[in-house]
Amino acid sequence: MEITVSPGRRLLGRLAKGEDLLAGLEQRGAAAGIKLGAVRAIGAVSRARFGYYHQTERRYAFLEFSEPLEILALLGNVSLKDGQVMVHAHVTLADAQGRAWGGHLAEGTLVFACEYEIQEYLGEKPLARALDEETGLFLW
Ligand code: ZN
Repeated sequence: MEITVSPGRRLLGRLAKGEDLLAGLEQRGAAAGIKLGAVRAIGAVSRARFGYYHQTERRYAFLEFSEPLEILALLGNVSLKDGQVMVHAHVTLADAQGRAWGGHLAEGTLVFACEYEIQEYLGEKPLARALDEETGLFLW
């Protein structure tokens, strides 16, 4: 699956302290009417929850951290799943010793501070997510 896109609007903003990181990004994308795009962010969280997809078992296992962590990098995309704006993002987070952890960003990650950038993409039609039988994931 591949489409050609051109850049649309670029949103720059900050999420509020205490906001859910994933839900906050999805809300900003939806509020702007962005159906397809890329997202990136840096900042810090007060707690984190992210997943690891077990490929053979076809399920996510979630890791939870209840300590403050730095967002070294958040990279992801914006697209539609069941007609709703969905952000699929992966994060690399660092603890007080500089050790890095990371995975598939899940709800339950709370913002301490977050500066984000959402790049809208315009194409002939937005990519939508659908179940991929081979992986068990909802993919483009
Ligand atoms: Zn993922």
